[in-house]
Amino acid sequence: MFIVVKRRRLVLVLLILIAAELALTAVVCVKQFANSNNSLIDFTVVIDAGHGGIDGGVVSSDGVKESSLNLAYSKTLGEIFANSGFNVVQTRKTEDGLYGLPTNGFKLRDMKARKAIIDKVQPNLVISVHMNKFSQSYRAGPQVFYQKGKDDGQKLAECLQKVFNDSTGNNHQAIAGDYYVCRETDCPAVIVECGFLSNDAEAELLQTAAHREKICSYIFSGVMFYLYEAE
Ligand SMILES: [Zn+2]
Repeated sequence: MFIVVKRRRLVLVLLILIAAELALTAVVCVKQFANSNNSLIDFTVVIDAGHGGIDGGVVSSDGVKESSLNLAYSKTLGEIFANSGFNVVQTRKTEDGLYGLPTNGFKLRDMKARKAIIDKVQPNLVISVHMNKFSQSYRAGPQVFYQKGKDDGQKLAECLQKVFNDSTGNNHQAIAGDYYVCRETDCPAVIVECGFLSNDAEAELLQTAAHREKICSYIFSGVMFYLYEAE
């Protein structure tokens, strides 16, 4: 039994190392297939850059908007998946929101537009990309959220959180709640809060390409871990 468990763990570690290596390689060749729709794997990931337009999300003390960082992280994450052979669909591709005219009720229209894209694509996974904020400014590191009562989303969230914690030394928990994108989506869906804009040091780090690529490679590795565990 011990040998079986140990062997399984070894395979898992190797898989994550391979996934991380693959992700980093993908980042290096980021532009090579960026415009190609020729996915190698029949597996679609929707990447949802949170907020946009007049909805900037949370803002760092030096004025950096969550919506802009979400877009940059979503693009990098999409490139990693696409370069690894996955089919990738982005909900938001520009700084604009998806709500049309910024009138009353724009937030719900924005969320419904995201749901319409997801419903049309019928993906295997949805990853909604956000940045976090907390009253205690020392809090740092990526954290994952999922829809309460949805087991597949919980499993995906826990796999991502494990890779994040193992990579960063944090001990955050994946947290259940009620989130429109996760609730209204049939496939496993999570919200990844990539870091805290309320932490000045982390806010600065989150703006660097090196950190963005690192966090996105962890997300990719977390999804590989989830797919391995779901076998
Ligand atoms: Zn957000």
